[in-house]
Amino acid sequence: SMASDSTGEQSVKVVLLGDSGVGKSSLALRFVTNEFKPYSESTIGASFMSKSIRIPVSPSSSLDDKSTQQERSIGLKIWDTAGQEKYRSLAPMYYRGAQVAILVYDITVPASFVALKEWALELKHNALPDLELVICGNKSDLEQFRRVDRAVGEQYAQEMDAVYVETSAKDGEGVADMFRGVAMRVPMMGS
Ligand code: GDP
Ligand code: MG
Repeated sequence: SMASDSTGEQSVKVVLLGDSGVGKSSLALRFVTNEFKPYSESTIGASFMSKSIRIPVSPSSSLDDKSTQQERSIGLKIWDTAGQEKYRSLAPMYYRGAQVAILVYDITVPASFVALKEWALELKHNALPDLELVICGNKSDLEQFRRVDRAVGEQYAQEMDAVYVETSAKDGEGVADMFRGVAMRVPMMGS
């Protein structure tokens, strides 16, 4: 799961899980290509995208002088799964061996938050014990249609020992920060 390629770049396997329609593919697309498609096609099985980013070597070095700050490169290998029930049995193939799981719901659809809790429990039982969980309330641009309070999402994340974020794949809000945060929390190889 944790690997480095011939250039020595560390890679991190990230899996996106959650109901169909919550915006998993849109989040991956926004992060990797900075695009948004209002009528995206639903994912068949799963799809894969990757992007390399540079992050500070030490988490505290944001306080240091920028000119002396050391960086390292991380390749995020993002597995975007299909949310439909018929593909559900495939999910373990994608989350086993992943270091990070991003569980996505749509802040305007309470049922998608219920589904997210099922995913979280499944992961607690079947995934790597040190899997980093991120709970992501997507479509923050639709605030006027919100039906899951931010506090409810945050509370659940706290219970699950997960990080909580809200994003909008549509306007980009929070997306790069979420993936950067993911990369920065993964331990440096060899440490
Ligand atoms: P997936 O099934 O979880 O991969 O969801 P998609 O990425 O295919 O998105 C489902 C629908 O929601 C598409 O019409 C997207 O354009 C739309 N969508 C995704 N993210 C957002 C968002 O942040 N805001 C809004 N308003 N729509 C979004
Ligand atoms: Mg999709």
